[in-house]
Amino acid sequence: MITARYQFPRNFLWGTCTASHQVEGQNHHSDWWHWEQQPDRILHGHRSDDACGWWDGMWAEDMDRARVGSQNAHRLSLEWSRIEPHPAVWDEDAIERYREILQGMLERGIEPMVTLVHFSHPQWFIERGGWLQADSWELFERYVDKCVRRLKDLVTMWVTINEPNVYVYSGFVEGVFPPGMETLGAVPVVTGNLLKAHAAAYRAIHAIQADAMVGIAHHYRSFKPANGKNPLDKFAASFRHRAFNAVFPEALRTGRIQLLHWRESLPELVGTQDFFGLNYYTRETVDVDLMQPDKMLKTGNFPPGADVSPGGFIANEPEGFWEALTWAHDFALPIYITENGVEDPEDNIRSRYLACHLRELWKAANFNWQIKGYYHWTLVDNFEWERGWTQRFGLWDLDPRSKIRTRRPSADFYAEICKTNGLSAGSVAEFAPEVLDRIFPGRGTDALSE
Ligand code: BGC
Repeated sequence: MITARYQFPRNFLWGTCTASHQVEGQNHHSDWWHWEQQPDRILHGHRSDDACGWWDGMWAEDMDRARVGSQNAHRLSLEWSRIEPHPAVWDEDAIERYREILQGMLERGIEPMVTLVHFSHPQWFIERGGWLQADSWELFERYVDKCVRRLKDLVTMWVTINEPNVYVYSGFVEGVFPPGMETLGAVPVVTGNLLKAHAAAYRAIHAIQADAMVGIAHHYRSFKPANGKNPLDKFAASFRHRAFNAVFPEALRTGRIQLLHWRESLPELVGTQDFFGLNYYTRETVDVDLMQPDKMLKTGNFPPGADVSPGGFIANEPEGFWEALTWAHDFALPIYITENGVEDPEDNIRSRYLACHLRELWKAANFNWQIKGYYHWTLVDNFEWERGWTQRFGLWDLDPRSKIRTRRPSADFYAEICKTNGLSAGSVAEFAPEVLDRIFPGRGTDALSE
């Protein structure tokens, strides 16, 4: 008889998450659509094309998959460029389509969490300067106001902006997202406007919907000094943490930005989060090469012996997740894990990645921290931004041409977790036996077969 299990709190939300541009297809008015048409922007020249066919109705069959998999929540995003394809011109049909999708989720017992901007923007917004423009936050506020007025009967959980730190880094430091700049000088301007946009959206949403829950999906990456005794490595890791992880959430907590010579006061930000959305994927090691000091800002390596995903993109580092949870807990807000997952086409690592991360999450919930939900990235393979179709994060495999979905074994594992609201030794023994002893110490395979 197998009894060992990690049980999650009652009413816990279990879901998956998606983003409009990654699943809908044919987003002609978005900056990403334009970006994809340019040579060498996307790996192998891939394009989103019809993506997962959601705009053509395939959202419904995917939501059936989520429901059959016992999920009770889903985080999706609205495509600003569909709702407002030209400045202040609203596409009511698009809004109706979103209403249909949200209604369809609710009918299936799936509670939506809606992100208002997830990396993609109307092309017109970018052409007039995007987030570099002083009035960008007001344009965003106008769009948010429209969305919330039209959808407030269907949605109460809102994420204003997905991973503003990743957007700033990828669009303005690394240049792999549109607008493709590698200009450190742009960072403070864009950051300031994104923060103002969030605060304005927070207030606009609450003015319309008093009981709304509003947050940001913050991306946390754990940075570990390669050599814990080397002061330069330690400094670089701590700097990466402060620059990448902390700027946005700390600004929202204190109303200030303080990083090296960058000082800004934005008191209107304080108190504009009802929950803390936490996206965590991996931990990396940071070392300093004095011959290449600029590398300090570039993606580093993984800890020696790390359990790395097939594409070499993500290491299974649950200790980094624990660090992220501890850090997020300090903000004293309810926490939703708004993304967590791994690219893994053959499904070799996903189940153990899930088991190891959920064990950490359970620990936090068991400490009575306010852990409210977990959204796995992602339900079905989708368009992975600058890496095109090369990275497969889905519980379900997708053939982008035929649109045929095929369930991966980890989908069954996740369904079992969602259904039972917990992680049991039996399911870990079945789907991720290689980590059973690590997750249930003393409940090894022998003990289970007794
Ligand atoms: C983004 C997703 C993306 C995922 C995997 C996250 O940072 O929010 O849009 O697909 O990472 O790369």
